[in-house]
Amino acid sequence: MKKRNNPISFFIWLLIIIGMLFIIKADNDKNNTNEQNQQQSYSYVLNKNTKKFHHTWCSSVKQMKKSNARNFTGTRDELIKKGYVPCKRCKP
Ligand SMILES: [Zn+2]
Repeated sequence: MKKRNNPISFFIWLLIIIGMLFIIKADNDKNNTNEQNQQQSYSYVLNKNTKKFHHTWCSSVKQMKKSNARNFTGTRDELIKKGYVPCKRCKP
């Protein structure tokens, strides 16, 4: 009567599972890079008052009232569609 599984077959199963995980990961990486190529997503700072958007490092962001500032992560096109104008200083 067998009480334990054969340790060799267990090892083979383990290799198969690890191999499958690598294939799944490689597929995900491929999909991620494709998405990034289609739509580049960045962090911006929006000014709700002037309807302008800035790079996070822009000097205008530091001068902006905190109540007007809003963080945004997404694409440039998305912001322009919403009616925002790129800042002339940092040219996002
Ligand atoms: Zn700016």
